[in-house]
Amino acid sequence: MEDKNPEALGQKLYDFAAELYPICRSITGNGVRETLARIAERIPLQISEVPTGATVFDWTIPKEWNIRDAYIKDAEGRRVVDFQRSNLHVMNYSVPIRRKMPLAELRPHLFTVPEHPNWIPYRTSYYKENWGFCLSHNELARLQDGEYEVCIDSTLEDGQLTYGECYLRGQSEEEVLISCHICHPSLANDNLSGIAVATALAAQLSGQSRFYSYRFLFIPGTIGAITWLARNSSAVMRVRHGLVLTGLGDRGEFHYKKSRRGDTEIDRVMAHVLRHSSETYGMLDFSPYGYDERQYCSPGLNLPVGCLMRSVWGTFPEYHTSADNLDFIYPIQLAKSLRLCAEAVEVLEGNLRYRNLYPFCEPQLGKRDLYRSMGGENPSYEINARLWVLNLSDGSYSLLDIAERSGILFSEIQSAAELLASSGLLQPLPRDASLSEENRSDEVTLPKLAVNQ
Ligand SMILES: [Zn+2]
Repeated sequence: MEDKNPEALGQKLYDFAAELYPICRSITGNGVRETLARIAERIPLQISEVPTGATVFDWTIPKEWNIRDAYIKDAEGRRVVDFQRSNLHVMNYSVPIRRKMPLAELRPHLFTVPEHPNWIPYRTSYYKENWGFCLSHNELARLQDGEYEVCIDSTLEDGQLTYGECYLRGQSEEEVLISCHICHPSLANDNLSGIAVATALAAQLSGQSRFYSYRFLFIPGTIGAITWLARNSSAVMRVRHGLVLTGLGDRGEFHYKKSRRGDTEIDRVMAHVLRHSSETYGMLDFSPYGYDERQYCSPGLNLPVGCLMRSVWGTFPEYHTSADNLDFIYPIQLAKSLRLCAEAVEVLEGNLRYRNLYPFCEPQLGKRDLYRSMGGENPSYEINARLWVLNLSDGSYSLLDIAERSGILFSEIQSAAELLASSGLLQPLPRDASLSEENRSDEVTLPKLAVNQ
């Protein structure tokens, strides 16, 4: 496994983020297409396009935005703000403009972060036609009164909203949904770290046998998730567990935001892998703001989808500024994030239930060579795991239940169960019967969806 060398793996993840970093992405347009094309070089990806004007639940697919160039030139013809130096310089979704104007007229269209005078903010105006430039506060302070030539060479026209899906079929049609947004331009942690980790996780899983089917969504934030949910009601009903991945490359500690239900299997799995990791972490209750878990956990869907991140969006000064750049993310942090996701998948995949075939008193482990030979000492960790598995395997407890109740790492509990099963003491129960009721999404009935194509 590559993760035996986390530095090398982390560097691969980082290199992919660096490759995607210069692309000017938005919620639609060629930046999204190019990003998806780079992902498709690494994993099988199905690309979908939905036309402008299509209805997706309460929303309408917006016009497609593309941009070639943008600048503000001073009276001497020097580019004092230049899109070619940073795509953050243009407010994302700015309508085209080419005009001369005095600074006083330009000023309401200029955005800065005064508290961090060297940073460029990231601004968008997707659903209200507007134009603007983002620049450092220091750059703004240097602008003299006078005439400026303002150019935004963009197009905002009928087109498509584009998203990508990587579907990995498992033994079961029940799905694990992994979702990340692909709509931010040159921002490293918020956007690219999630894409890099999700792509690598899909690549790893594609080479493994799987119980669950896995669906990785690479979608524009909000409108992309709404679009996918509106157009895929049968897949939505097969989602048993899900994770939104974002902000996974910075130096901050892990945070897991629970699903709306708060006690689903994925919530418990993430709590378990975080508790047993060597990392510090925080658990957050669901709130109806944040990333696309907002859509997956809307009341009509209420899917078991949580969100894994490191520093929480909006709580660190670099968030949505030019300081969320390639210096803000670290290969080893990306590798550890991927490792945590892979561990969560291992728990989901292995969370079986067993039945103890010798439930009347303890079976004699010693005669099967499964117990210490000398009495009197504390049972070792391994034997402890066997005793817990034997005791709780009455068909109602899953291995995760046993891991939680015993405080023992899931993989130790799983190894104990496999050993006891191979010794004839336990019998695995059929997988379907092992799915707990609360994780079934059968109650989801989507309204008949109007997608005007
Ligand atoms: Zn963001």
